[in-house]
Amino acid sequence: MLTGLCPLCDARIQLEADVLPGELVECPECAMELEVVSTHPIRLAEAPQEEEDWGE
Ligand SMILES: [Zn+2]
Repeated sequence: MLTGLCPLCDARIQLEADVLPGELVECPECAMELEVVSTHPIRLAEAPQEEEDWGE
């Protein structure tokens, strides 16, 4: 299990050990969609919003 930090609220976010760059995770504290930009070390960034709509 790996741990990343939310760039917005500094919450600890648990990630699968085999997480890959480009995967999206949701911060459990602020519900922000985050993209894994690096896994060594773990680095998270706000997910881009211009992607396809997720069923809205
Ligand atoms: Zn957060």
